[in-house]
Amino acid sequence: MELGFYGATREVTGSCFLLEVGRRRVLVDCGLIQGSRRHERHNRDPFPFEASSIDAVVLTHAHLDHSGRLPLLIKRGFRGRIFTHRATVDLCRIMLEDAGYLNEKEAQWENRKRERKGLRPVEPLYTREEARVSTHRFHGLDYGQEREVVPGVRLTLRDAGHILGSALAVLDLEEAGTRRRVVFSGDLGHTGTPILRDPETIDRADLVVMESTYGDRRHRSWEETWAELGGIFREARQAGGNVLVPTFAVDRTQMLLYMFKRYYEDWGLDDWQIFLDSPMAIKATRVYARHTALYDERAAAFERAHGELFDLPNLSLSESTEASMGINRIRSGAVIVAGSGMCTGGRIKHHLKHNIWRREAQVVITGFQAAGTLGRALVDGASHIRLWGETVRVQATVHTVGGLSAHADQDGLAGWYTGFGDAPPVAVVHGEPDAQDALVARLQADGAAHARAMRYGERLDLVASGAGLGG
Ligand code: ZN
Repeated sequence: MELGFYGATREVTGSCFLLEVGRRRVLVDCGLIQGSRRHERHNRDPFPFEASSIDAVVLTHAHLDHSGRLPLLIKRGFRGRIFTHRATVDLCRIMLEDAGYLNEKEAQWENRKRERKGLRPVEPLYTREEARVSTHRFHGLDYGQEREVVPGVRLTLRDAGHILGSALAVLDLEEAGTRRRVVFSGDLGHTGTPILRDPETIDRADLVVMESTYGDRRHRSWEETWAELGGIFREARQAGGNVLVPTFAVDRTQMLLYMFKRYYEDWGLDDWQIFLDSPMAIKATRVYARHTALYDERAAAFERAHGELFDLPNLSLSESTEASMGINRIRSGAVIVAGSGMCTGGRIKHHLKHNIWRREAQVVITGFQAAGTLGRALVDGASHIRLWGETVRVQATVHTVGGLSAHADQDGLAGWYTGFGDAPPVAVVHGEPDAQDALVARLQADGAAHARAMRYGERLDLVASGAGLGG
């Protein structure tokens, strides 16, 4: 009985863990490596195991750094089923197809260059069609429903409160009369997140595999964050320009639309024309609107009293390119919510081109901006940015709203861990080294005898004492 670590070790992307129980092999997550172009080339590397030898996959949630290599796993010979929450199946249909589409675009762009150099063309990592077909392997479950995924491995998903359908994976293993329970945190949500329930606690485990994205940070309170956003919208009305909100299509968009509705009058939003300018975010919002049974009490009560969480009287959904281009003619009074979240692509770049040089315009950054991205340059106060080879002066006011994270902070992670009661061993993954080390130190201070950041390729013997984590 072993667990191998093949991704998200000392970094946040590419989650991939291999459980071996008897002769059965179950993969937990199969995520894309994301970051610089050079780093992303590793997505094409062979898997460190034979894809056809995997019997089943457990997927914690729809984000691509957890799900994005699944179509590739299938392309390379995986024949089994993918067990995940029902809402994750719906979100993956949108996200994987979009990833396939981007792969095709990327390969076309690369091949134009290669052709000029006389090199052989490259294939897309997987196509949109391959992504679409891969979702037929998905098998949707509800939270709390126990399911045998292969003989000797029983799965129960619990709410992780991170995005819609996100799950903690509780895996009860049995081999030759020996039983072990491994709990994967997946990505753990931020307590008090709008719409979603708080992460569920689990009372017992023999090993916890835990994320650490914000293992070294403390988020500000939700109330402070809403007050900050309200202030920005009220001031923006005085300034008289447009407000650009670069956003992530899944979760951040729905959270913002719901908050727009909840604070509609308080933030003076009735004075604005609001645009949701992202086909993917529009589709994801429809999925969120369908799964009302997954809402927390406050969102459910709001929905009963005021109808769908995301429908505002002055909201326009821009699905077509023409509709998106039409927004460029508006100089004042538009709130434009568009992807991508880090301004690395998508329609937000066009809106930046038309607005960022105007003194009266505002940009509201609502999420983490990775080093090297256009969004990060704006956060860091760049005086000029480059857009399609053109230099554009930054005169708009850039606001960074830090409290909207979908991940638990250090207190949230440590608090969730105390729910186990008996301080089980912890394998720390899914964080930059500083964040991982800070979380390990905190867990040890809180009484975890065995807590350690994992290295790539490391394997733990789950039958050994301390789950092989030393001691
Ligand atoms: Zn995630």
